[in-house]
Amino acid sequence: MFDYKAPPNLLADRVILVTGAGRGIGAAAAQAYARHGAQLILLGRTRAHLENVALRIRHAGHANPMVYTLDLETARTADYEQLEVAIEKRFDRLDGLLHNASILGPRASLDEIPDADFIQVMQVNVNATFMLTRAMLPLLHRSKDASVLFTSSSVGRKGRAQWGAYAVSKFATEGLMQTLADESDGSSLIRANSLNPGGTRTDMRAQAYPDEDPSRNPTPEEIMPAYLYLMGPDSAGVNGQALDAR
Ligand code: NDP
Repeated sequence: MFDYKAPPNLLADRVILVTGAGRGIGAAAAQAYARHGAQLILLGRTRAHLENVALRIRHAGHANPMVYTLDLETARTADYEQLEVAIEKRFDRLDGLLHNASILGPRASLDEIPDADFIQVMQVNVNATFMLTRAMLPLLHRSKDASVLFTSSSVGRKGRAQWGAYAVSKFATEGLMQTLADESDGSSLIRANSLNPGGTRTDMRAQAYPDEDPSRNPTPEEIMPAYLYLMGPDSAGVNGQALDAR
C-alpha cells in the first residue's frame, strides 16, 4: 500500500470537487477528504447516492458538502459553466479536483464493440473530463496550491485485449493529465497527476471480474493514503506523474 500517513488537518480550508462521489472509490475519497478538513463538492449522476454520502459527512461532524447532480454523459459546456458559477458563488475558488467518475463499457474485443458503446465510454471518461477541467481552470487558478487528480488504470498504461474503449479512454486520461501538467509547469500553481487505484472492491470491479472473490481486493478506504497525499500540500511540486495507489 502507498506509504503515507496524512496529518488530521491535511486539507483544512481546501475546497475539493470529487466526481462520482456517490459510490465506490469516489465516496471513500470524499469522506476521507472531509475527515481531513476539506469542504467538498460531491458531483455525480444519482442524487440519492450523493445525498447519502453528504449525510455521512454531516453526521461525522464535518463541513456540510455541496451536492451537485450532473450526468457526465449528457452534460455540455453550458452545464459545466453553470457548475463553475455555483462553486464560485459558494466557495470562490477550487483547490482540488478529483476526476474519479468513469464507466467500464463492454468487455469485448475491438471488432465487437458497437460504435455507440465506444462513443459513450469516451464521452463519460474523456470528453467530460476535458470539459470539466476546462470549466474549473479559472477557479483552480485562484488557489494557492491546486491539485488536479486524474484516475487511470493499469490498462491506461498498457493496452490489453478485451478492454476496448475503457483502455483507450484511460490512455486519453493520461494524455489529458500530461498536457495539463505541461501547461501548468512553471508559470502556474496548478499541478496534475494520475493515479491508478489498482483492483479495488467496488461495483465496477465486480462488473469487470464477475467470477472473482471480492475479498481479494482492498476496500476503497484502504487505498486512501495515495488520494490524500496527492490532494494535500505534502505533494506540492509533484506534477505530471503517473502513480499507483498501491
Ligand atoms: P464505480 O462503478 O463503483 O463508481 C463509479 C462512479 O462514477 C459512481 O459514483 C457513478 O455515479 C459515477 N458515474 C458513472 N457514470 C457517470 C455519469 N455519466 N455521470 C456522473 N457520474 C457517473 O467505480 P469505481 O469506484 O470502481 O471506480 C472509480 C474510478 O477508479 C474510475 O475512474 C475507474 O475507472 C477507476 N478504477 C477502478 C478500479 C477498481 O478496481 N475499482 C481499478 C482501476 C481503475 P452513480 O452513483 O450515480 O452511478
